[in-house]
Amino acid sequence: MEKKNIDWANLDFGYIKTDKRYVSNFKDGAWDDGCLIEDDQITISECACVLQYAQTCFEGLKAYTTEDGRIVVFRPDLNAQRLEDSAKRLEMPVFPQERFIDAVVKTVEANEAYVPPYGSGATLYIRPYMFGSNAVIGVKPADEYQFRVFTTPVGPYFKGGVKPLTIRISDYDRAAPHGTGHIKAGLNYAMSLYPIVDAHEKGFDENMYLDPATRTKVEETGGANFLFVTKDGTIVTPKSNSILPSITRRSLMYVAKEVLGYKTEEREVYFDEVKDFAECGLCGTAAVISPVGKINDHGKEICFPSGMNEMGPVTKKLYDTLTGIQMGRLEAPEGWIKVIK
Ligand SMILES: *Cc1c(COP(=O)(O)O)cnc(C)c1O
Repeated sequence: MEKKNIDWANLDFGYIKTDKRYVSNFKDGAWDDGCLIEDDQITISECACVLQYAQTCFEGLKAYTTEDGRIVVFRPDLNAQRLEDSAKRLEMPVFPQERFIDAVVKTVEANEAYVPPYGSGATLYIRPYMFGSNAVIGVKPADEYQFRVFTTPVGPYFKGGVKPLTIRISDYDRAAPHGTGHIKAGLNYAMSLYPIVDAHEKGFDENMYLDPATRTKVEETGGANFLFVTKDGTIVTPKSNSILPSITRRSLMYVAKEVLGYKTEEREVYFDEVKDFAECGLCGTAAVISPVGKINDHGKEICFPSGMNEMGPVTKKLYDTLTGIQMGRLEAPEGWIKVIK
């Protein structure tokens, strides 16, 4: 397979159109057989439920070339389950989990020429999503839906080295206590655009959202979960019903405990405790873990001992272990790696 002529190491996290995408349509109560197509454009009603009422949810995962030249994806079964959970909360039909995995495999296979080579640091980002496609003006769920999977090659997250992030406490809320924070819905991102643009304008990389009810507990950022390391080496992650259950975070917590032998805790984390932690990281598919160096709470700074130049030692160990598993350098726990070819 001849790879595309792309400068893999200098790719950004941006959209590049690849050759094929998977499409399946839901109509009259059933999904059709689905197929790969070339057309990247979508034509839908001006009154489509997704356009008027944001009835849409999505997933994000990556395909990697391993050290021995295989193409693999990481835990796609968990993305399939999470898309099912999101769809149910948004009154959308479930796309069957085994079909979700099959669609991911077919789309990656069809775009093999865009899967970055091992060692480039780049990966093929996979975006499955679905939306209500027919006209709806009175507020109710659509009757017709489209499920799609497209791929786009993305560059190394830490281009030019790791740079710990500076984040701020947000004055805006991300997710209401019994709202939709736990599902991967476009609507959670629409409302985060204003606070993230504002954060960037003020020189911050991300927003730390606190629980809206009491403003005392750590939730997450707009698109990544928190991991903290205590001074005595326990790994702590916030527990809340309004956090999106990150697959990266769940995998890191497993690896921390079962592979590396750390003590781990998933529990409510009060913002008051954060100043006493030794390390802080943000986890998600894009970066695996990005270290946080500094948190700004309305002008009052918390500076982690790991500093602004490198990952803390425990964060680094977690990062190396999980990326080692994803790239096939380390043995993966049973069922974590789906080999495409
Ligand atoms: C997607 C997402 C994450 C990260 O989840 P992964 O499965 O690890 O990629 C974290 N927070 C939010 C709000 C997200 O949408």
